[in-house]
Amino acid sequence: MDWAPRVKPIKIRRLYRYARLGIYDDTLLQDVGWELYARCTDIATVADVYREGRVPCPKCSTKITRRIDPLFSKGEGGTHDLWFRCPHCTERLLWRDCRQALRNTPRCFTCHAALLKTDVLRCTCGKTWSQDAYNQSVRTRVRLPCPHCFNPVRRPEVPVQRGKNRQPKPELHCPKCQAVALHQYGNIECTACGYKRRWRDYRKSLKKKDEKLECPNCRYTFRWQTWRKSVRSLRTGNPKPAREFIKRWLRCHTPQQRMIQIDTLLQTLHGRGPLAPLFIDSGEHNIRQMLDDLASQR
Ligand SMILES: [Zn+2]
Ligand SMILES: [Zn+2]
Ligand SMILES: [Zn+2]
Ligand SMILES: [Zn+2]
Repeated sequence: MDWAPRVKPIKIRRLYRYARLGIYDDTLLQDVGWELYARCTDIATVADVYREGRVPCPKCSTKITRRIDPLFSKGEGGTHDLWFRCPHCTERLLWRDCRQALRNTPRCFTCHAALLKTDVLRCTCGKTWSQDAYNQSVRTRVRLPCPHCFNPVRRPEVPVQRGKNRQPKPELHCPKCQAVALHQYGNIECTACGYKRRWRDYRKSLKKKDEKLECPNCRYTFRWQTWRKSVRSLRTGNPKPAREFIKRWLRCHTPQQRMIQIDTLLQTLHGRGPLAPLFIDSGEHNIRQMLDDLASQR
């Protein structure tokens, strides 16, 4: 799949230089705006894949449903993950996004400041974690900082589904003989060959397993891990600024309106440090410098 490139900082700087002089060069505005738009669309597409468990075919864009993902829906917060609201800032959240935000920018669990990455992760309050210990905590903690306001939020309870409302579970197959298998007594048990394994170990092995995906439309086959790697620079737990820009850009009719929408997005990126390199083609330090410069000129 061909993903849209990130926008060059030089173009953005030029835009602001002109705007400061009261010049709204619409060719340049359209150029930068549509590049941002294309990038935002890709970011939103990738975010949808992690939310829905469906991957667009790299050749024809048909959405292919993953077989493995639903099995993780309870633990890792997959397709059936629950929306909840942060009690502090009322943003709509998914637990998996809370986790992902900390993988992007590790924060202290106590004071919620961003951690310094040295040989260990270090907080100004004195707490330190090894990277492994930190990752482990992100996976297992029931209270994590909100990705938007950084106040602590509690992991939502997964409601027990009973009777008629119960969603059909994906059918399990024995990894040995492919016959129907059951999830019972904390194990996966094959109904045919007697294969039996701890459910937890089984899930872990699946997670590592690379899934082969075949497009039902054009028959193209590819691997999930390869696809996942190809979108690494587009993956974020916070696709909201991208989604907002997509909506608003299409409603712009004048050069001034276009400048406002580009500026709104850049201001949001300025406030969310680690998000900016997804959109702008430069190192984190240079991008921060540029966004600082632009902010001081507003
Ligand atoms: Zn296809
Ligand atoms: Zn701290
Ligand atoms: Zn919040
Ligand atoms: Zn079997």
